[in-house]
Amino acid sequence: MTKVTKKLTCIECPKGCRLAVDVDNGKVVKVAGNECPKGEKYAISEIENPARILTSAVLSQGLALKMIPVRTDNPIPKSRIFEAMAEIKKIRVKKSLKTSDIIVENFMGLGVDLIATRKAK
Ligand code: SF4
Repeated sequence: MTKVTKKLTCIECPKGCRLAVDVDNGKVVKVAGNECPKGEKYAISEIENPARILTSAVLSQGLALKMIPVRTDNPIPKSRIFEAMAEIKKIRVKKSLKTSDIIVENFMGLGVDLIATRKAK
């Protein structure tokens, strides 16, 4: 049994409430310091299933822009970020793209799309 209190800053709005999160065996048991329910939701997600939007760049072939900036359209688990970076390195874009065009649908089976954040011709 390991009970600890972790300090987090809620990033759901500009107020940036300082949260004190009691965690027992990896599970959130109490959240204090939040001024609205979003803070508790954020703390639970951050402790129990941390996720981030991944931003990176993929190589192109035959396009003027050699590196095309990309991101996932929704957060992916932090635990899969390194694997995702390795997958991104394998991608070669060969056709023109507009901003927000999907490069890989359901990227790594995670239920998110990898999209271009810049057009490329
Ligand atoms: S807890 Fe609510 S009020 Fe505080 S930073 Fe998070 S979203 Fe904003």
